[in-house]
This record gives sequence, C-alpha cells and structure tokens, in this order.
Amino acid sequence: MKDLIDIHMHTIASGHAYSTVREMFTAARARGIRLAGIADHAPYMPGAPQKMYFCNFKVVRQADYGLEAIMGAELNILDYSGSIDLSEKILCKLDYAIASLHELCISPGTKEQNTAALTGAMRNPRVTVIGHPDNGRYPVNFETLVQTAKETHTLLEINNSSYANNTGRPGSRENARLMLQYCRQYAVPVLMSSDAHVDSDAGNHSEAYTILQETDFPESLVINTNLEKFKTYLYKSE
Ligand SMILES: [Zn+2]
Ligand SMILES: [Zn+2]
Repeated sequence: MKDLIDIHMHTIASGHAYSTVREMFTAARARGIRLAGIADHAPYMPGAPQKMYFCNFKVVRQADYGLEAIMGAELNILDYSGSIDLSEKILCKLDYAIASLHELCISPGTKEQNTAALTGAMRNPRVTVIGHPDNGRYPVNFETLVQTAKETHTLLEINNSSYANNTGRPGSRENARLMLQYCRQYAVPVLMSSDAHVDSDAGNHSEAYTILQETDFPESLVINTNLEKFKTYLYKSE
C-alpha cells in the first residue's frame, strides 16, 4: 500500500514532545511520506503553546522540507457539545485541524456524551480529522460516529500510537476493528497517523497498518494512498 501522508506529528512546542519542525519533516520524508503536517497541541493542554504560536505559520510555509508541508493544530474538545480551544480567527490561519478528547481537558462522559462531543466537533467546518476516536477511555457509538463522518466530510483517524504497547488508550485495537467495520459498511475513509512525539516515530504507521491488514480493510478507503483525495478534506467548507 502506498502510504504518503502523516499529518499528526508534534514538535517541542507541544511541551511533551522532543523534536523540531525540521527534524519531524525530515524523518517523515525518509519514511516515504510526501505530505506531512505538524499538529501541536492547542492551548488548553498543559504545557502547550499559546494561541500566538498558531498565528505565524507563514514563516514555516516559506521553508523547503523536501515534501509538502502543512501546519495545523490538535484541538482539545472541551465539552460534550464539541467546543474546541482555538477561535475561528485563529483556525482560519491553519491548513487543517485535528480535534481530540484528552483526559487533561475533558473527563470521559457516558457513551452518548462522548459521541455528542465528537460529532459536535465534526460539525465544525474547520475540523478536518477526529484524533484517536477509538480510545477506550471514551466509549462512543461507532455507527453514529462513522455516519456523521460521512455526512460532514470529516476523516477518522487510525492512530498508530494508540496501538503501541505503552499506549495510554486501552481498548483501542478492539475499538478500531469495530470502527473499521462501520467504515467499510458506509464507505467512509480513514487516515493513518503516527501521532509522533519524537522524530524517530514520524511517519510510523506500522501498528495502524497491521490493524488494516488484519481486518482486510479496503485500500480504496485508506486516504493515505491518495494525495488528491486527501486534499478534498482540507477546507471542507470551502
Ligand atoms: Zn501529545
Ligand atoms: Zn491526542
């Protein structure tokens, strides 16, 4: 399978990641990635950069990293209606945004509440991707999630870090399998991401790829294979 895209990578700016923008892009390129994105944690995460960080990406876009480089953010979902922690004024300066549930920012709710949090975020036209939706700490209704992804033209992530042995997201493998079943049923594509917090992990989708293989998931629904198709998910409202 061609694997050309990784847009969930963190840099030292996130406060708990350890490589620079150039180190991440260089390492991703060495793994064969052709379109890479930095999505540092948005301000509500302890240690994350303040909003000004997300306002000056034009200087990064001027540099040459040997691949197509885009700059976004990993937003924190703050409540069960899907509110996020950067304003529209800042979001419109980003190339894309991932929205995720993190325990430091929102406590796990009921299945209905968690589902509403994610689907609420999906309805925000600036949200391109839902990060680690298979985190077992936040039970969700996967059928509703997948249907809403289709309706709102939002990507669901198959997050490599969730399936690592040291994951803080229990149950992710089982949940991913269930989510993939619905993705297949409703013809909804997924995006493999590394969620790398250090350069040696940039572009690493080995665990994610294993799950896709185990479930015999159709390659045509893996957006990492197709740059043009991926780009239709950026700026989904425009
Ligand atoms: Zn992180
Ligand atoms: Zn995350």
